[in-house]
Amino acid sequence: MPISLTQINCPNCGAPLAWDGTYGKPITCPYCGSQVMPGSTEVDDVWLFTDPVARARFEFNGTLDELEHDIRYEVLRGRTWSDLDRECKRELDRLEREGLIRKLASFWALSPFPTVYRARQDGELTLGGRRFSFRKGQELVWACPMTRDRFELDDPILIGDFASERVQHLCGAMADAMMGRMSRMEA
Ligand SMILES: [Zn+2]
Repeated sequence: MPISLTQINCPNCGAPLAWDGTYGKPITCPYCGSQVMPGSTEVDDVWLFTDPVARARFEFNGTLDELEHDIRYEVLRGRTWSDLDRECKRELDRLEREGLIRKLASFWALSPFPTVYRARQDGELTLGGRRFSFRKGQELVWACPMTRDRFELDDPILIGDFASERVQHLCGAMADAMMGRMSRMEA
C-alpha cells in the first residue's frame, strides 16, 4: 500500500506537519520542537459509533485509514468520546437488546456515520440523568458534534421523524462528504 502523506497541524504552534498516516509514532514539529503523537488519545474504540455497514464500505473502497483519521481529527479533535456519548451508545444498545428499537439499513450521513434506529414502540432513554422519550416509528441516532450544532441539540441524541433529511443526506450530502474527503486526500 503506497504511503500517502497527510497534513496535520501541530497542536502547540499550529504549523503544518506531514504525517505518513501511522498512528502511535511521534512526529517532532520542525518549528517549535514539540512532540506530536498522532492518535495518541485514549481512544481505542475509534469505531464506537460507526455503523458496521458504513465501515465495511470504506474498507471496501480502501479508504478506512482516511475515515479513521477523520474520526480522530475532525470528529474527536484529538480528544475522546464524552461520557454522554458513551452513555448514549449504551442506551441505544440496551434499547436494541430489549427490542424497542431496530437498526435501519442506512446510517447517518456525517462522519463517523452512526447507525440510525427506528422505534418499534414508545419508550425512553436516559442521558446524564435526563429522560428523552420517543414514539413508535420515530428515528433515533447518536448526534455527532456537527449534528448537534446543526440541530441545536444540547445532548448527543437526535430523535425525530427525519427520514427525508436522512434520505437527502444519503443521496446528496453524503456523496459530497465522501467526495470532499477524497479530494482533500488528493490535495
Ligand atoms: Zn509546533
